[in-house]
Amino acid sequence: YQVRLKEAANSKELNMLITSVNHLASSLETLEKLRKQLTEDVAHELRTPITILQSHIEAIIEGVWEPNTEWMQSCYDETIRIGKLVDDLEQLARIESSNLNLNKKEYLLKDLIQKTVTGFEGELFNQNRSINVLGPEVSVRADYDRLQQVLINLISNAVKYSKEKGNIIIEVFEAENNVGFHVKDDGIGIPEEELPFIFERFYRADKSRNRLTGGTGIGLTIVKSIIEAHGGRILLKSKLHEGSVFTVILPKN
Ligand code: ADP
Repeated sequence: YQVRLKEAANSKELNMLITSVNHLASSLETLEKLRKQLTEDVAHELRTPITILQSHIEAIIEGVWEPNTEWMQSCYDETIRIGKLVDDLEQLARIESSNLNLNKKEYLLKDLIQKTVTGFEGELFNQNRSINVLGPEVSVRADYDRLQQVLINLISNAVKYSKEKGNIIIEVFEAENNVGFHVKDDGIGIPEEELPFIFERFYRADKSRNRLTGGTGIGLTIVKSIIEAHGGRILLKSKLHEGSVFTVILPKN
């Protein structure tokens, strides 16, 4: 063994071995940092609604405030927020676990889009807004439920972040090796300096405004994971106060 080691010491093999061990160590270090970051982020996200709930309930117990409907509604909203965070985290964990089993089948992309859009039509109708689906009839080979999850997240963001004005357009396209769609809104847009972070877990542009919209900052992370699991990509173009375009590109097969 010693002789072998001696021989190896003079050889390229040992250097290669050392490089791989170092590489492995630094990957483990990065993973550990990510895990710690996630724990910190989750704790941070839970702290705000819990603090609000505690102070409301304390005030009621101590008789400082009479419980009225407004207070109860505010408590209820915070429990909804915690529930949504837990749901999103559960989804994210499932999606990010290496064994995301995609159940791929072939179907018309526009059928899926149309079906998903129907779920939003009532809300948009009440706000005097519309959502249009454009582009060719192309088929896609993808997991129907997961891709619907992508659409729901992108459309609900387009609705959420353009409340007062504007319509939403979903446009299907086909290229030589890809199919995909754009989700366009003419809403509040995203500042250029924030664009690189928008797909990160828990990231929310302009945090105070987003608290009112009740987002958790996990939706786009889930979207990106699903698209990448399909071997696809998601692109984003956005201009503050003008609107955003999210483009999903999927391989044809
Ligand atoms: P959230 O639950 O906060 O909506 P997402 O991960 O879906 O989380 O989005 C992350 C952030 O990206 C949002 O908080 C918002 O600041 C920004 N964002 C996403 N979609 C849009 C959009 N269509 N227009 C403007 N900003 C958007």
